[in-house]
Amino acid sequence: MLTAVVGINWGDEGKGRIVDLLSEDQDVVVRYQGGNNAGHTVINEKGEFILNLLPSGILRENVVCVMGNGMAIDLQHLHNEIERLREKGIHIGPDNLKISDRAVVTMPYHVDLDCYEEERLGKNSYGSTRRGIAPVYSDKYAKKAIRTGDLLHEKYLQKVLPDILAYKNLIIEKAYNKPGAKLEAAMEYLHMYGEEFQEYICDTGAYLYEADKAGKRIMFEAQLGALRDIDYGIYPFTSSSNTIAAYAPIGAGVPGLKLDTVVGIMKAYSTCVGAGPFTVEMDGEEAQALRTAGGEFGAATGRPRRVGAFDVVASKYGILAQGSDKLALTKLDVLSYMKKIPVCVAYSYNGELIRNFPVGEALDLAQPVFEYLDGWCEDISSCRSFGELPENAKKYIEYIEEKVEQKMWLISVGAKRDAYFMR
Ligand code: GDP
Ligand code: MG
Repeated sequence: MLTAVVGINWGDEGKGRIVDLLSEDQDVVVRYQGGNNAGHTVINEKGEFILNLLPSGILRENVVCVMGNGMAIDLQHLHNEIERLREKGIHIGPDNLKISDRAVVTMPYHVDLDCYEEERLGKNSYGSTRRGIAPVYSDKYAKKAIRTGDLLHEKYLQKVLPDILAYKNLIIEKAYNKPGAKLEAAMEYLHMYGEEFQEYICDTGAYLYEADKAGKRIMFEAQLGALRDIDYGIYPFTSSSNTIAAYAPIGAGVPGLKLDTVVGIMKAYSTCVGAGPFTVEMDGEEAQALRTAGGEFGAATGRPRRVGAFDVVASKYGILAQGSDKLALTKLDVLSYMKKIPVCVAYSYNGELIRNFPVGEALDLAQPVFEYLDGWCEDISSCRSFGELPENAKKYIEYIEEKVEQKMWLISVGAKRDAYFMR
């Protein structure tokens, strides 16, 4: 049984929270793309955790976690993240964490290059999280990356690393006028983490095919949302990998397997981190109120998130891109303070109404068209069934269901594990 849990919007929909919840009856949880540029906050009986690289299933004793070949792994960050969890009593070892030998390694010079490029762009910067993600994925496609499996073969590293660094230093020294990466330091770095992680690094594809054959339940966890997918998102303000569910088997290591279920996580309003078009963006006091109510500050970076109304146009597109057959609506409780709740039902562009999510300049210039629903103005965080909700909260859900043409499956009304109900 293969289930993907993915984001319908711009990310930060609460995927970590939902994976933590749904992994109760899973055997394996796999991250299939991205690096430590995103953050998932999970709050359960063990405490509050922020996960950047590790799959959110790591908090469950019954679950084996896999970091797939589609990921970009910053080994130093991984080391620190594991240490932080161990301090809170979470067991992490080669028995419950497997790292693909085909994932690319985010090197310190990738992080530097990310910063240099954002600095060069100045006010036109992408709002990168500066975790080296675009540089390392660029190197993957330029075939200049080091893969985790290479760490186990020091002779091979000694052979390829000088050429890779010579190439990187052409850019670092000649294009950016910065000090180049040093061979000895890079070798030492890889040697040190190679030793630390040698027992974790393996052919995770082979492991997953076996697990599937044995009837295990496997969950694929996305980082970021559909609108950040490199191919289908708001390019170039996307991430540098494929966040969509269709990529999950590829980035996990089992391209020959088909997903049984795709759970799309959709937020009851919109948030967006970094630069780029965000049609429904609120500003001033209205934005401040929603940001505060939702605690919308980046888990990875602490940056205030841009906030806005629920966006039907973008969400319908996200649902289509994800092919989600189940929808989970998160953070409905956050809207409890609003007297009138705006919902963006269409865009207007060049005097025309558009309902299909546009690209490029049309998206940049599109204006939101809002409808307003009455708020419920009471705390709903202890509701544990649809029937317990105030009438206007029920109407809000039904309205969104009608607009996106899909029923909700699960509704989340709080960050804690049990703050949800099935529709
Ligand atoms: P992810 O990147 O998709 O995993 O989401 P993040 O963890 O970055 O952001 C979601 C935030 O909302 C986290 O701080 C969660 O603890 C919190 N959260 C998740 N679901 C709910 C919910 O239903 N209600 C409230 N109030 N908070 C939620
Ligand atoms: Mg997040």
